Amino acid sequence: MNPIETILEKYPVAIVDGALATELERRGCDLNDALWSAKVLMEQPELIHQVHLDYFYAGADLAITASYQATVEGFARKGLNRDAALDLMKKSVQIAQAARDEFWSDEINRTDRARPLIAASVGPYGAFLADGSEYRGDYGLTEQELIDFHRPRVEALIASGADLLACETIPCLIEAQALVKLLSEFPNTFAWFCFSAKDGEHISNGEKITDCAKWLDQIPQVAAIGINCSSPLYIPSLIREIKKNTDKPVIVYPNSGEIYDPGANTWYGETSCDAFGKQSKEWFENGAVIIGGCCRTTPDHIREVRNWARGKHGLI
Ligand SMILES: [Zn+2]
Repeated sequence: MNPIETILEKYPVAIVDGALATELERRGCDLNDALWSAKVLMEQPELIHQVHLDYFYAGADLAITASYQATVEGFARKGLNRDAALDLMKKSVQIAQAARDEFWSDEINRTDRARPLIAASVGPYGAFLADGSEYRGDYGLTEQELIDFHRPRVEALIASGADLLACETIPCLIEAQALVKLLSEFPNTFAWFCFSAKDGEHISNGEKITDCAKWLDQIPQVAAIGINCSSPLYIPSLIREIKKNTDKPVIVYPNSGEIYDPGANTWYGETSCDAFGKQSKEWFENGAVIIGGCCRTTPDHIREVRNWARGKHGLI
C-alpha cells in the first residue's frame, strides 16, 4: 500500500517538511561546498537530527532525508570509498528515523497526528554534477546510464528502511523513467516523483508536465506526482495540468518565493512565511494534497501550512 495513504486517510493534507540547507546554515554550518551534505553527515549529524525534529514540531508528516546529493561518485571526490559512501546514505535515513522516533515517543506529540514518515531523497543526476544541469536536464545520458548511476543509492536507501523514496527536482522525463525502471527491481517500495518546473506548464528541460503525469500515472509504485524546487507562482497551473492526467495524490513543495541567482550564488526578492501559508492553501484548493516547502523555506513556513491544514481553525 502507498504509505502516504496512511496519512491521507486521516487528514485531507499530508505536510512535507521544508529546506534542510537553510536551517543548517542558520545553525552555523558552512555549506559552501558542492557536497555539503556529505560534510554535514560526516561531521555534524546531530544538527541534521535537530532540523528534522524542528520540522516535526512545526507539523511535518513527511521528513525528507539529507541524501539529495549523496552519490558514490560524488562522495569519492571527498575521498570516501564505496562502502563509506553507502554507509553515509544509510546514515541519512537513520538520522531522520531517530528524530522521528524521539518525536513520536512523547505522547503529547501524538495528539491529532499521524506517525511521520521518512522519505529518502533521491536527487537528480545533475545534483551530483553541481554545474546547473540539475535545472536543465541536458545530461546526454541514456536511460541505462541513468539507471546505473542511481542504482547504488536507491539500493542503500531502501535497505535502510525508509518508508518511501522522494525522487525530487527531476528536470527531464527520461530520468523519471530510469528511476521507475530501477524501482521495479524493488516491488515493495513506493516513491513520489517531483519535477522542477520552468513555468506553469513545462518542467525544467521544456517537456510538458501533462506528458510526465500521464506517463507516471500508469505506474503502481508511484505514490504521488508533483513539483518541487520551483517558483510558487507556477504551482497552481502545474497542479491543474497534473490533475488532468492522474488520480494519484498531487504533491507540491516549491521554494519560498525568493529567486536564485546562480551567477552571484545568492537569493533575492521578497517573501514571507505568511504569504507562503496563503499560497499553500491555494495549492490545496487547486487539488494538491501533499504540501510543503523546498529551498529557503523554514519551520515557520511549514507551521503556516499546518495552521490552515490542521487544528482548531483548519480543515480538521
Ligand atoms: Zn529546492
